[in-house]
Amino acid sequence: MSLPDRIVIREVGARDGLQAEAPISVDQRLELLDALLIAGLTHLEVASFVSPKAVPAMAGAAEVVAGLGAPEGVVRTALVPNLRGAEMALAAGLDELTVTVSASAVYNERNVKMTIDESIESVEAICALASAAGVPVDAVISCAFGSPYEGDIKPAAIALLAERLRASGASAITLADTTGMATPRRIQDVLALTGTDVGLHLHETRGTGLVNAYAGLLAGVRRFDTSVGGLGGSPFAAGAAGNVATEELVALCDDLGVSTGIGIDELIEAALLVQSFVGHPVPSRVANAGPRSRRA
Ligand code: MG
Repeated sequence: MSLPDRIVIREVGARDGLQAEAPISVDQRLELLDALLIAGLTHLEVASFVSPKAVPAMAGAAEVVAGLGAPEGVVRTALVPNLRGAEMALAAGLDELTVTVSASAVYNERNVKMTIDESIESVEAICALASAAGVPVDAVISCAFGSPYEGDIKPAAIALLAERLRASGASAITLADTTGMATPRRIQDVLALTGTDVGLHLHETRGTGLVNAYAGLLAGVRRFDTSVGGLGGSPFAAGAAGNVATEELVALCDDLGVSTGIGIDELIEAALLVQSFVGHPVPSRVANAGPRSRRA
């Protein structure tokens, strides 16, 4: 086990972080994205192209993308739930799409009202469309470390689902701990079968998010999804607490000598900015306490 020299952090605050909050304005979402660019983020999940009736906080996705423009060297991602969403996201000019399939049949049924097989078919259609536009698709496997409905899901089932999604045209796979059931041991068990060329999308529901990220780092994972301020839940999963806070992972990496390219002080400013927008304290401990030391 050895730590990677550098990792890529995909900042999901503007989508995953805000989706379960009371809606904030498009201008405020753009202000947040701007603050994240200033902090050095290069991978931003900016919106999701879902029905604003289902997720009111994501209304105005195309306006957010248009307002952001295409900053040099920045990969702008959006979540798309179906082919219609993919068409809108591609028309808006996104650089990458994310799609979600749950490893939990029950969660998938409740979240998107499809069987896992139907979801994979949908991913295949989205990938075909995106590929024709030269846009990569990251397939996010939710409940990859356990399901609130079925309990533990076998690592072999996750590896098989990842394989099927790659065969359906996904250019990358991200393993998501949607309801915070991962532990370092389970991270190791799943990565042993999927390989470490995956992203990790971890939640702090049970206080294991950061230690799970550390387990991922030690195993050699180089891609992580995190949210500024530690905001985020799922509008479809009761009790799903926040994502791992970007500033907590950056602070850890700074100490470990793992390069992220992100400035911790600017990032904490972004966390305090989004805190002022959502109108309640953000869960991130590093945003509240500050980094353990600031380099002179
Ligand atoms: Mg999340």
